[in-house]
Amino acid sequence: MERDYLTNLLPLHLFLREADKILKNNPDCRYAVTVTDLSNFKYINDLYGMAEGNRTIQEMAEKFFSGNPRCILASRPYADQFRSLIAIGDVSQDEEVAIITNMNTEFTEYIQKRYPNIYFHVYTGLYIIEDNSEGIRSACDKAHFAKKCFKGNLSVTCGIFDSNAYKDSSNVMRLTHEFQSARERDSVYVYYQPKCSASTGEFIGAEALGRIADKDGNIISPGEFIPVLERTGIIGDFDDIIMEKTFADIRRWIDNGGNVKPVSLNISRIQFLKPGLIDKILALQKKYDIPSRLIELEITETTFIESVDFIDDTARELRRHGFTIDVDDFGSGYSSLSLIATLPADTIKLDCSFARQCLDNDKGVILLSGIINILRSIGFDIICEGIETECERQRIMELGCDKIQGYYYDRPMPSASFEEKYITKQ
Ligand code: C2E
Ligand code: CA
Ligand code: CA
Repeated sequence: MERDYLTNLLPLHLFLREADKILKNNPDCRYAVTVTDLSNFKYINDLYGMAEGNRTIQEMAEKFFSGNPRCILASRPYADQFRSLIAIGDVSQDEEVAIITNMNTEFTEYIQKRYPNIYFHVYTGLYIIEDNSEGIRSACDKAHFAKKCFKGNLSVTCGIFDSNAYKDSSNVMRLTHEFQSARERDSVYVYYQPKCSASTGEFIGAEALGRIADKDGNIISPGEFIPVLERTGIIGDFDDIIMEKTFADIRRWIDNGGNVKPVSLNISRIQFLKPGLIDKILALQKKYDIPSRLIELEITETTFIESVDFIDDTARELRRHGFTIDVDDFGSGYSSLSLIATLPADTIKLDCSFARQCLDNDKGVILLSGIINILRSIGFDIICEGIETECERQRIMELGCDKIQGYYYDRPMPSASFEEKYITKQ
């Protein structure tokens, strides 16, 4: 059988083939997969020469794999990186981690003595296969993932696979892919939710809320994909699409002689960190010829609080151009009232869960009423989100907040339905 010239271990394709055979033929035996590498290995080549680098790789192979009776198969896919299949018998996960940690520490000490000018750390990702029919490729991916999760953490030398972190990370991949393909299929949509006067029910504005559809046309909820796009930074691209589609919708509504009211857009924190947000908005305004009074920009309370100076300057500039700034989700974070007082904003949107919690008991009602009064006397306009019932509408109106957005009036709906129901003049 073909072998690696340096270590006599199997090349990767044979390792995978043979490991799969073993797993298939021994469904009841317990196995683990490891992915191991030596940090700063390349400096051995650089400082001591290739021959010393090769010697180190051979010694690693001998110590961990060919000379290790528990190791059944191993491979060196490249440089100093190794994969192995280990028969673990009745050894528990903690015991296995301890065995590997021991070996890694011994080897690190040994190699450190020989090359004192380089700092070494052996990293092993460990995955204990739960069901042998899973196959070796998936098991290797998981061991690799386990290693990636703690790489850089010098206090650990063997990391065990964490299925929750893995699910989370595959979720990031899936939703990022879902967004990219929705974008290619032009399946990123804007839904609109009306804002209404609590006393008269009159339609006074709307919030634009982004949606993506999968290839079967099912709508994926923003609660699911927005936090992921925020983490990867792609949210900026998403917001750009929503912004342009909203401007285009408003233009069409104006051209059709509709009952057009201000529309608010959610601006994520990352949009402020990239240069050019103001220019982008101004360019869209010019392209679609939209009066500034029809555009509101929602910035969450947390965004404001976390990066005050930077965001404040941008918000001030946007207001100078005539746009309205809303502080979104007020009450959901830990803001200081003195800080809120100086925010360059026009409207405060009371967070739905905060408002609902307050309306739930007498003291909460007093608190909410006080907050509404204070915010109004400072000069803010107030809107309450998430109003669902007649009772909530009545109470919030009595507390002095006349603008509401919530399921009580309507859920967010596709652009065409919204246009028909609210914009087109009867
Ligand atoms: P948000 O900005 O606080 O938007 C309001 C959310 O409350 C919307 O959820 C809306 O459907 C929901 N809602 C409205 N009325 C009620 C009600 O009466 N009861 C309850 N329980 N919920 C109500 P949605 O559309 O699922 O959006 C969730 C979040 O995703 C938004 O929260 C916003 O943070 C984010 N988001 C949505 N679209 C965009 C976007 O285009 N860009 C960015 N950056 N974020 C967006
Ligand atoms: Ca919002
Ligand atoms: Ca909100």
